[in-house]
Amino acid sequence: MSLRGAKRRSNLDADEIATPFELAMTVLIMDQMDKIISLCKRRGFIFPGSEIYGGMANSWDYGPLGVELKNNIKQAWWKQFVRQRSDIVGIDAALIMNPKVWLASGHLQNFSDPLVECKKCHERFRADTIGNQVPNGYLVPNPNSKNKKGKCPKCKGELTEARQFNMMFKTFVGPAEDAANMAYFRPETAQSMFVDFKNVLETTRKKIPFGIAQIGKAFRNEITPGNFIFRTREFEQMEIEYFIREKDWKKQFESWLAEMYKWMDFLGISKKHLHNLEVPKGELAHYSKRTVDIEYDFPFGKKELYGIAYRTDFDLSNHEKASGADLKYTDNETNEKFIPHVIEPTFGVDRSVLAVLCEAYTEEKIIPPSFAKGGGAVGDIKDDIRIVLKLPKAIAPIQVAILPLSKKPELSKPAFELYKELLADFACEYDETQSIGKRYRRQDEIGTPYCVTFDFESLEDKAVTVRDRDTMKQDRIKIGELKEYLKEKLVG
Ligand code: ATP
Repeated sequence: MSLRGAKRRSNLDADEIATPFELAMTVLIMDQMDKIISLCKRRGFIFPGSEIYGGMANSWDYGPLGVELKNNIKQAWWKQFVRQRSDIVGIDAALIMNPKVWLASGHLQNFSDPLVECKKCHERFRADTIGNQVPNGYLVPNPNSKNKKGKCPKCKGELTEARQFNMMFKTFVGPAEDAANMAYFRPETAQSMFVDFKNVLETTRKKIPFGIAQIGKAFRNEITPGNFIFRTREFEQMEIEYFIREKDWKKQFESWLAEMYKWMDFLGISKKHLHNLEVPKGELAHYSKRTVDIEYDFPFGKKELYGIAYRTDFDLSNHEKASGADLKYTDNETNEKFIPHVIEPTFGVDRSVLAVLCEAYTEEKIIPPSFAKGGGAVGDIKDDIRIVLKLPKAIAPIQVAILPLSKKPELSKPAFELYKELLADFACEYDETQSIGKRYRRQDEIGTPYCVTFDFESLEDKAVTVRDRDTMKQDRIKIGELKEYLKEKLVG
């Protein structure tokens, strides 16, 4: 997490007149993002929130496929960082904590961003992120900007001086809406892991180094949310607080950075689209001695995907002072008592989903089969674009689609039986509508690695055709061997 009052933000300047090249790039960027957003809506990954009431600015709902993709990512993360490690345990803490937590952590004082307002149209912006705003609302950064003055990206009006805006989401606990009952939705999952440190330590008897992990919602009253699910006011985080001895911090920092790269590799995110940004000393959040932002080449610019920080013993020390609880760790062998230091790798869930979608979205030009087989005249060739989400098989929302060639009961009945059988082992979908070609295309678009087609021949040879999403190669597999075949392909 970052307490952002004094923290480095990207070095973008206010509104710029774009060069023709920048405008051309902007069109491309919009195109790519629009295509992803449109696919998400069309196929049921992500919908605009509260749409039938005209929407709710920058809120998004995960639909049937989106929730599967998001859950698969969260479950894989939990498996990799909690279940498969003996040194990390998980918690799931309350979203609304005692407000004293946020005083001790410094959020009430420092969790703010610089806000500017246009004197003409009164639109508000986060001062450090306004670049070239394009008509559909994406903010396109212009890192080469020389204009330090800043104009309103919407109407070019004059902007006010920046003032700090606290991003904590307020609410009231109980019926009385007065200051005594004011509380906050957590702006990060991290603090509950410090607040629960003593309980976790006592109940698990873990030895340092060890970590506490959590996945959950966080809320920030962002001044300029946008770029689809990249920056929203309500989002999810997957965070680890890893408790160490001070002397080990450099080694642990490097080792966790490497673990984060392994995770991104698992998500199918190419290393060439990732960049480490070493946050300069003078721009570090006050608790941090070292922070690296891992940035990803999103279509709208190079932006933070994840972060890793060495938080020293700042949080535990502050909570010990503020609460009076003893938050020290005792080494049973040496009897040494000390406040552990912390390395914090932090992963945004929604930014993971977005990076995975950006990375997986592929358009392929394919040659119509009639021409490929030499059956068509040149005039028959039409540019045919196949949209494929090349999602890693382990996180694809649907792993296997079962498609009877025809709706006739003689095919649909046994195909549905096969679907029910496969459901026990794989995430499956049964689809008998439309032509087989259209059904393949739909499955390609939602990233289904394998389509199983049950045809009339299947009744005779007791075999089905299995089509591979990426190669479009088809294998004829005996129904009795299908489960093993798919297990080998999907589980490895
Ligand atoms: P940014 O600089 O983009 O505002 P940050 O440095 O404030 O991000 P952290 O406080 O480090 O972010 O939060 C940890 C992770 O949570 C980020 O790396 C990101 O993946 C995710 N995240 C933070 N803010 C948002 C948001 N408003 N919407 C979606 N994800 C977010």
